[in-house]
Amino acid sequence: MKRGLLIVISGPSGVGKGTVRDKFMNDPELNIAYSISMTSRKMRASEKEGIDYYFVTREQFEEAVRNGELLEWTEFVGNYYGTPLANVEKLRNEGKNVLLEIEVEGAMNVKEKCPDAVTIFITPPSMEELERRIRGRRTEPEEIVQQRLAKAAREMGMVNQYKYIVCNDDAQEATDLIKVIIKHHMAQQENID
Ligand code: 5GP
Repeated sequence: MKRGLLIVISGPSGVGKGTVRDKFMNDPELNIAYSISMTSRKMRASEKEGIDYYFVTREQFEEAVRNGELLEWTEFVGNYYGTPLANVEKLRNEGKNVLLEIEVEGAMNVKEKCPDAVTIFITPPSMEELERRIRGRRTEPEEIVQQRLAKAAREMGMVNQYKYIVCNDDAQEATDLIKVIIKHHMAQQENID
């Protein structure tokens, strides 16, 4: 059986990653399994243990790092986030295409460890539109909006490190493009013997 792909998706908060992901994740042709990350962040009311994340304490997280259990990890706004390695390996060996949705620093670490990873960065059509989306979906204080925008601008500076840049102007078009990218790499994988 062919080993599955490792697909990494990043993009600034507010760009619509979740919407796009939900549109292609369950397409049977793509054979995707989502990698559930480990985090020390507190669980939100809408989230479930083992579905959105594995929620752990800072100490448990640090132990996982010491034991080499994570493919990559980072500290993001005061909380740890990381990708459990064993799960990714198991799924890929079962032929599943494993999807990581992680921030830029983690994506760069994955790229170093797995140069064959299919890295995709989702951009907004413009920074003005991103600001409109961030303001539109949340009722956050101006200071937080500014922090998110500043972080987004820094992340946008990393786009050239990714194999593919997909603009999320229209969610369906962005989804279709990502499907084409994944199918292309699946076909390439088939040809490797
Ligand atoms: P949130 O707290 O909103 O769920 O996630 C914050 C950020 O952490 C998002 O950009 C998300 O993509 C990223 N993230 C989630 N899991 C991981 C992970 O395992 N590793 C890294 N590096 N980033 C992650």
